[in-house]
Amino acid sequence: MQEIGHYIGGKQVAGTSGRFADVFNPATGEVQAKVALASKAELDAAIAAAAEAQVAWGATNPQRRARVMMKLVSLLNRDMDKLAEALSREHGKTLPDAKGDVQRGLEVIEYCIGAPQMLKGEFTDSAGPGIDMYSMRQPLGVVAGITPFNFPAMIPLWKMGPALSAGNAMILKPSERDPSVPMMLAALCTEAGLPDGILQVINGDKEAVDAILDNPTVQAVGFVGSTPIAHYIYHRAAENGKRAQCFGGAKNHMIIMPDADMDQAADALVGAGFGAAGERCMAISVAVPVGDETADRLIEKLLPRIEKLKVGPYTAGDDVDYGPVVTAAAKANILRLVDSGVEQGAELVVDGRDFSLQGYEDGYFVGPCLFDKVTPDMEIYRKEIFGPVLSTVRAGSYEEALGLAMDHEYGNGTAIFTRDGDTARDFASRINIGMVGINVPIPVPLAYHTFGGWKKSGFGDLNQHGPDAFRFYTRTKTVTSRWPSGLKEGGEFHFKAMD
Ligand code: NAD
Repeated sequence: MQEIGHYIGGKQVAGTSGRFADVFNPATGEVQAKVALASKAELDAAIAAAAEAQVAWGATNPQRRARVMMKLVSLLNRDMDKLAEALSREHGKTLPDAKGDVQRGLEVIEYCIGAPQMLKGEFTDSAGPGIDMYSMRQPLGVVAGITPFNFPAMIPLWKMGPALSAGNAMILKPSERDPSVPMMLAALCTEAGLPDGILQVINGDKEAVDAILDNPTVQAVGFVGSTPIAHYIYHRAAENGKRAQCFGGAKNHMIIMPDADMDQAADALVGAGFGAAGERCMAISVAVPVGDETADRLIEKLLPRIEKLKVGPYTAGDDVDYGPVVTAAAKANILRLVDSGVEQGAELVVDGRDFSLQGYEDGYFVGPCLFDKVTPDMEIYRKEIFGPVLSTVRAGSYEEALGLAMDHEYGNGTAIFTRDGDTARDFASRINIGMVGINVPIPVPLAYHTFGGWKKSGFGDLNQHGPDAFRFYTRTKTVTSRWPSGLKEGGEFHFKAMD
């Protein structure tokens, strides 16, 4: 059985804690590897080594650091197929989806090639007699990234790119459910010229996370995962004086106005609701048609599209729409929530609970489920299901639909489908949600904008990637200098006293 350890000091090393977790192939239910779960002592040693290595890396000029990013982009492109295959094998998503996972991470690395521009400070010449004032952005030292299972390439790359190119060393604690790709990314960083010890990938569970949170050398923690853990990490990191940005779960609503192009809306909903088996923080899990007539037309358009969905393992070809969910526990949780929806009176229009695939009976597949007439008090509406389950909540008016999305505790993404510019503009301006799509179901901002949710989808005040990421992984120092020549009468750069 393959054993996955850690990536420390520029190479893979075995874990020493004696604790392991199983890594499954979600399509077959087989255990395909064991991943080491690091102890506090392993974490503390890796953090100390990272701190030592960071001194020289932080002092390396930004352009040289950016060249490592440039090389990393070409290596990610070179190994795209290999990375996607390893990703699909542990996560279960289709190969095109896995390539998208790598690609969206790679785009942030491309953005980080511009790190020297992002790190430039500001300068005020002659702020007073002989006085200049300037600010600089300096790395924090050792920072941490703690990432979820659902984007094992993209989110680690979102963390690594800005943190490393800004001159920090990073401890990356990826999800223990699909650890292979982050380990491969670390090896590519070494190949790209990143000095040893600057990126330490430590696999583990709560013990590893707590060791990161309690270690005083770690200056900042970037977390992505479920809301309860985001909340916990944010508070514990803050208590220990660390900077923290913690992104959590989601319940993304898509509002469909009566004037929307219904074919476009239905296509968008099927892709955004069922793609990647609904295991995306930007998946649409709630459809809110405005008016009963719109709802009826929408359901009529959705049904044949959902019937056509092909569910299968990633090995079955590129026409598979989505694969299994990640674990048996995830599958059981999804089925339990679907049952609760039925018990609480929602109409299960498409029932995927009994879905089974010949030859893959032990895989964690869930057929698509479509609910109609869901109400806000139901558990399937309040909770994040993180599976191929789309709930329809019928709204009587635009204001009611807007109010639903605004009142929900999550605020990651949302979308409105309409042909009316006024309504779209009003929606974008009033909604209390971080990422908004207008006739775009999954409005994931590009690398040079920033990504982040509001309300219980995000704790902390700076977003991921874009300029915010460089602000998060650096701190500003402002220097005021006075030189005697500026005080001399007649000096070339003499100014009369300004203060
Ligand atoms: P998770 O919260 O279970 O795990 C995330 C990370 O936290 C992992 O590295 C895990 O090892 C660690 N962890 C788990 N339990 C812990 C504990 N008790 N103490 C300390 N650390 C712990 O999340 P997941 O299931 O891997 O990912 C799915 C979740 O992530 C969904 O809720 C999804 O919406 C969310 N997500 C959010 C975003 C976003 O940007 N907002 C993006 C992707 C995923």
